[in-house]
Amino acid sequence: MVQVVRTTKELQQIVKDTKKAGKTIGLVPTMGALHEGHGSLIAAARKENDFVIVSDFVNPTQFAPTEDLAAYPRTFAHDCELAEQMGADVLFLPSPKEMYPSEDMTWVEVTGRITQVLCGRTRPIHFRGVATVVTKLFHLAQPDRAYFGQKDAQQAEVLRRMVKDLFFPLEIREMPIVREADGLAKSSRNVYLKPAERKAALVLSKSLFAAQKAFEAGERSTQKLTDGTRAMIAAEPMSDIDYVEMHALPELTPAHGTVDCPHLLAVAVRFGTTRLIDNVILDPSK
Ligand code: AMP
Repeated sequence: MVQVVRTTKELQQIVKDTKKAGKTIGLVPTMGALHEGHGSLIAAARKENDFVIVSDFVNPTQFAPTEDLAAYPRTFAHDCELAEQMGADVLFLPSPKEMYPSEDMTWVEVTGRITQVLCGRTRPIHFRGVATVVTKLFHLAQPDRAYFGQKDAQQAEVLRRMVKDLFFPLEIREMPIVREADGLAKSSRNVYLKPAERKAALVLSKSLFAAQKAFEAGERSTQKLTDGTRAMIAAEPMSDIDYVEMHALPELTPAHGTVDCPHLLAVAVRFGTTRLIDNVILDPSK
């Protein structure tokens, strides 16, 4: 039975007892509205740790005032069921006041190119909010391993850097993107899509898979691969492109012109008012 925990104090006591018993802890941070993408992270945490904590918190500090904080889907009963089904021990469900007790903020901010490109350009305060809340969760849950999705590949890179710079004694585990049967990456935001937008959004995975195929057939030009992806998306009349870009991994350094090491090809596109992200990793060693 998954234990629902709402206070930091209670969570800290559970973590203390778990550590004392010599158990390893896996943490899966989420914003709730859980789907199979989150489920895959919980399943991986279950496999690799003795104790699994899933956090379910719509973090206000990573949303700009113009973004969808108020509308973000909240499906608590369903989240409880899925977390339990996937084998979580604790579902941590704090209130904003519980996570941010003071009005005046203490921020954790990863600076430089890694937070300035891609989503960092259109969502300038986003990664500061993510780094701050994840730091709080790391201190509360003291995980041996923390699980994130490649769906938010930039977030995983930012958090890897934070873990390295702040000497967090834990491992970041990044899991593959879970998709709908037709290719659309699973996302809590997919519920916003009107039927025509949902259909149009398929162009994201289609264009990324086309780039992957071209890459596998030998294309190595970052320009050609990026341009081909952008052209396919732009040809969909309902799409409104935020970015289609390639950056080298790790750490999102500038693309080399030639895909001579792993590169991230990432897209962010609006369909109506819904902004979706997706990506593929092009790795010449595979
Ligand atoms: P979110 O609740 O959207 O903030 O996501 C919580 C975690 O689940 C993040 O690490 C995401 O990258 C991950 N995630 C979201 N969607 C997917 C997906 N389709 N496949 C794999 N992981 C995902």
